[in-house]
Amino acid sequence: MICPFCKQEVDEPCQNTVEMQRRANQIERCNYALKSLKGIVFG
Ligand SMILES: [Zn+2]
Repeated sequence: MICPFCKQEVDEPCQNTVEMQRRANQIERCNYALKSLKGIVFG
């Protein structure tokens, strides 16, 4: 499945922003997705 945040094909995509933030500590693509999301939200 494609992760809606990472835009990558993964076995277990992030279900929501909370999960994505939690994964960001361990998974580089989620960390990158988190940063770009913050860039959009907080400008
Ligand atoms: Zn993700």
